[in-house]
Amino acid sequence: PSPPPLLDVQNLSVDYGKLRALRSLDFSVGEGEIVAVVGANGAGKTTLTQAISGLVPVSEGRVLFAGREITRVPAHQRARLGIALCHEGRRLFREQTVRENLELGAAYATRGATTTFAQRLERVYDLFPVLRERASSQAGRLSGGQQQMVAIGRALMAEPRLLLLDELSLGLAPAVVDQLFAALPRILAWGISVVLIEQHIQRSLAVADRVYVLERGRVVFCGTPDQVRAHPALQQAYLGVA
Ligand code: ATP
Repeated sequence: PSPPPLLDVQNLSVDYGKLRALRSLDFSVGEGEIVAVVGANGAGKTTLTQAISGLVPVSEGRVLFAGREITRVPAHQRARLGIALCHEGRRLFREQTVRENLELGAAYATRGATTTFAQRLERVYDLFPVLRERASSQAGRLSGGQQQMVAIGRALMAEPRLLLLDELSLGLAPAVVDQLFAALPRILAWGISVVLIEQHIQRSLAVADRVYVLERGRVVFCGTPDQVRAHPALQQAYLGVA
């Protein structure tokens, strides 16, 4: 029998007042997997990452992580269990230095982390060398791409088991987007599973093991990138192929 997935979301519904943002959604991420989530604006992608992180309450269904039910576990405890969210919009401490932002990420270190603070910091600096150079700069003074690197680095400082990347490259120049995508295989090599929400759908298909397509809070398709590419309706809707 195959091992249970790292993350197993079952029959999940989330409501904002009268609006049902997620509808009986099933979603899973295996150990070492990178899973892309695509869908139009408002499809529920951000809500899904927030429900996994514990930032929005769940109306129905269950969230299991590493074999344990966490549906009602508060967000800070989920961080301790190894779930890290890297938000759209970055949310850095702009007045603090790059190094201080990275230190703050380590405050939520996963229980049972196998690396030291110094090792994790070194790893992040190796991943994004510009952060070593800018370690003493105020985070708010960095370029948009560098700030995104700080945000990812901060999430990695917790040594998470699952990294949720919501709009990794929003508004960034192509060269910077390349750098961020180039970091993904190295992050996976550290044993971290990844959920990727990205506007650059072709790029996310190129790195993903599996893809979920959401429409109005439902999963309308789940499969491999090749299956998405071969699916006429999805091609038209998401890949800009007529
Ligand atoms: P986007 O790419 O625009 O962020 P998304 O796929 O991430 O889209 P969500 O942000 O999860 O979608 O939104 C799903 C639905 O829930 C949308 O109809 C949105 O308007 C609504 N919604 C999201 N956040 C809230 C909130 N805090 N309060 C009320 N409604 C919300």
